[in-house]
Amino acid sequence: MILGIDIGGSKVALALGDGEGRILGETRLGPPDPSPARALADILIEARGLLSGAGVAAPDAIGVSAPGPLDRRAGTLCGPPNLPTWRDAPVVGPLSEALGAPAYLENDANAAALAEWRFGAGRGARRLVYLTMSTGVGGGLVLDGRLYRGRGDLAGEIGHAPIEWDGALCACGLHGCLEAYVGGRAWTEHLRRVVSDETELARKAGGASGLRPEHVVAAARAGDARAKEELERFVGYLARGVVLAVVAYAPDVVVLGTIASAAGETLCFAPLREQVRARIWPAAWEDLRILPAALGARGPGLAGICAALEGLRGERETGRLGED
Ligand SMILES: [Zn+2]
Repeated sequence: MILGIDIGGSKVALALGDGEGRILGETRLGPPDPSPARALADILIEARGLLSGAGVAAPDAIGVSAPGPLDRRAGTLCGPPNLPTWRDAPVVGPLSEALGAPAYLENDANAAALAEWRFGAGRGARRLVYLTMSTGVGGGLVLDGRLYRGRGDLAGEIGHAPIEWDGALCACGLHGCLEAYVGGRAWTEHLRRVVSDETELARKAGGASGLRPEHVVAAARAGDARAKEELERFVGYLARGVVLAVVAYAPDVVVLGTIASAAGETLCFAPLREQVRARIWPAAWEDLRILPAALGARGPGLAGICAALEGLRGERETGRLGED
């Protein structure tokens, strides 16, 4: 049995399951304690509860999905933006020691890409590009049936490809990144800046200062012209990022997470596919699938499990942690 743990800024998810994605038990915790040691103690209580509930003495492996920057080989988090107190925080060592099993750490976008590839929208595909699309835009690549990390684990970060030269400032410090246009935080800031308080759209949110992407999606669905305009802008920028990924990697499937999934087929995926199709070679479009993420609430726990499966695979093939 594999124990999967997803550590996020607003919650921690745990799942106990097997390599086929069957879940024996899962649980969630609120935001992790700012002290990594205390947070790990909380996580261990939940983990032991899951294990004893399933009658498992110790897991075969532990996988941790967590936001970057992180040091995968050292098994530490390096002060990610939404967990700033987790600086050089050992995660793998303490969990492995306490639960008596090997533990593996993976960037959350990579782990989620693996989960959608093994168990979700990308099941059966050989090549998958995944974009997280929540607060930021994380990216993960599965190429020819394995996670592709690139030099320094830097591959697949489509969210930080410049799609507008000298464009909007991104949270990463660069200008014009995809994330600066379609990331949840950036889009929210944009909406609050450009939507007038006088519009129906702003009134629905109790004023422009309360606007969030979900208000735009709901209003566009109800036919609001201003909201549709904002959603078209979102889809237009998203298409630039997807085109880039398709041209570079020729994937079988592009899977898009939270915000795109929430916007749905009519408002997001149908117009997005049209724009992508118009910008790439017909041969690259043929059989290409652009789909919403399919795992929903099961995603984080399965991402943790996939972090372990990928760690075990790497070790099996090379005999060394993370050297592939
Ligand atoms: Zn950026």
